[in-house]
Amino acid sequence: MSLDDNELPRTDDEWRVRLTPEEFHVLREAGTERPWTGEYVDTKTQGVYHCRACGLELFSSDTKFDSHCGWPSFDDAIPGRVKEIEDRTLGMARTEIRCARCDSHLGHVFHGEGFTPKDTRHCVNSVSIKLEPR
Ligand SMILES: [Zn+2]
Repeated sequence: MSLDDNELPRTDDEWRVRLTPEEFHVLREAGTERPWTGEYVDTKTQGVYHCRACGLELFSSDTKFDSHCGWPSFDDAIPGRVKEIEDRTLGMARTEIRCARCDSHLGHVFHGEGFTPKDTRHCVNSVSIKLEPR
C-alpha cells in the first residue's frame, strides 16, 4: 500500500492522524525506539521493507544482517530510496537516513564497522518500516 505523491500528508496534524504516537515520534520527530524492542530486530523473513509512513520500498531482506546492536540493520538500501543528512545532535557527527519520498526519519547509517563486505550499516527503527513478506 503506497500513497500517491498528492496523497502525502503535508503537516504534522495530517501525519498525526495517520500514524500511532510512537510512529509519529520516530518518523516525524526523529525519535529512536529503545534497542531490542522493535518487531524486526531478529526477523529473517524474506521480503521487502517499506516506509511505514508512505509505503515506499526501502530495503530488501537480502541486505539485512545480524549486527547485535538492537535495531534492524541493512548493509544496503534500494537505490535512490534513502537520503542521507548530516546529524550533529548528541555531540556526535552521524549521518541520519530518511525516506527519500516523504522525508520521514528512518535511523542512521554507519560505515567502516566491518560487519559485511559492503562495510555499511543502515541502523533502522522497526517502527519506521513495514515488512511485506515475499
Ligand atoms: Zn516514506
